[in-house]
Amino acid sequence: MPMLSFRRFLAAGTATLLALLVAPPGRATAAAPEPAYYDVTSTSTFTTTAGLAADLTRRGYDVLEGPLTRAVPILATAAEAQRLRARGLSVRYAGPLHQPVATTWLAAANTYYGGYHTTAGHEAHNQAVVAAHPDTAVLRTIGQSWLKTQGTGGHDIQALCITKIRAGDCATTTTGTKPKFTLMAQMHARELATGELAYMWIDYLVNNYGKVAAVTTLMDTTELWVIPIANPDGVDIVSSNSTRPISQRKNAHTNGCSGTGKGVDLNRNSSYHWDVNQGTRCSETYPGASAASEPETRGIQSFLSSIYRDTKPAADFSPATTGTTGTFLTLHSYSELNIFPYGWTNNLAPNNADLRTIANAMAKANKYDVVHGDGGLNYFAPGATDDWIYGTLGVPGYTIEVGPSGSSCGGFFPQYSCMSTFWNLNLPAFMALATAAARPYPTGK
Ligand SMILES: [Zn+2]
Repeated sequence: MPMLSFRRFLAAGTATLLALLVAPPGRATAAAPEPAYYDVTSTSTFTTTAGLAADLTRRGYDVLEGPLTRAVPILATAAEAQRLRARGLSVRYAGPLHQPVATTWLAAANTYYGGYHTTAGHEAHNQAVVAAHPDTAVLRTIGQSWLKTQGTGGHDIQALCITKIRAGDCATTTTGTKPKFTLMAQMHARELATGELAYMWIDYLVNNYGKVAAVTTLMDTTELWVIPIANPDGVDIVSSNSTRPISQRKNAHTNGCSGTGKGVDLNRNSSYHWDVNQGTRCSETYPGASAASEPETRGIQSFLSSIYRDTKPAADFSPATTGTTGTFLTLHSYSELNIFPYGWTNNLAPNNADLRTIANAMAKANKYDVVHGDGGLNYFAPGATDDWIYGTLGVPGYTIEVGPSGSSCGGFFPQYSCMSTFWNLNLPAFMALATAAARPYPTGK
């Protein structure tokens, strides 16, 4: 990762100069402030990095999910970095938001930033998959995006069911005979690698039935649901600049905030442990006006409730039964983590031992760290989907934070060529989680 000495820049003085120096080559005169990654540390005011992270979050900075070693990673403009320095904090430039787009990429239809698929690209793909594979794929609409509910464009939220279809399969009922694994992606729109992994997972399954023994067995025994784009309006914003994607995390719900302050954080909006204090309106973790206020949240929750049996008492620390079937994965990026419940507290979930066993199987495949609670992260994440599905239905809910923090494959916007590495690492993790759907809690502990 290229490091720059900011001490010299500071001596030189102005935010304008900083903006020029962190801007990518050839873009020095661009008017829009370009965010970049910075690491913030404090030697005096804050005794812990967690305290500093909490303060920066409260002040509306874009504090990133990542291991809290000795610095707090943020995404900020040069002017914001300068304001933090003026408060006496140490702010180190850690790398650019965007990577160069390969010159061999010719902006194929429905793609952006070197090959990532737009929402429209995913929708066309879903249609093509069910048309080509009627025996193994079914497409369902499970809800609407915020813009669609306003009658101002937007999208349906789509889910594919992939399995060797027999009578009764892929119905939105809890009475089906096959256990279910659901992979959901790009709820945070700017986390580009996640939607692409879902796209590749869909192709891998439908193209390898009858060819790869493990895939054939899985599709004969399990319903593999995929929600490739959980936040289609947000992804439309991200892909609106095809070479320098927009850093939109939330949905497109108008809330009076400008730029990427618009929207609600869908991964803080669930109806399980929703927490009003997660962020103010314009912050990246704004949880919405109320639990499940967003149509995307309601669509996803009601869909998942329609296919998984509820095997867990409502009390947070009462375990789900050993008869539970099914697993769930939501893909986020980045920081190379396998996360298991709970994420709202450091207290162990009642099925902790079995939940951890599955996470360890994922880690054996992708080599990412295994964490829960706030372990390894900057903060708790109440109102997230993984906690919701476990806490509400008893289904083991996992998050993978895909990709590293540094290098050209790091951050929210890795070069498209990084996808092959992400895929090779995470495919066996997906397979492990899908296979675990048959009996996720063998010990009941
Ligand atoms: Zn995320």
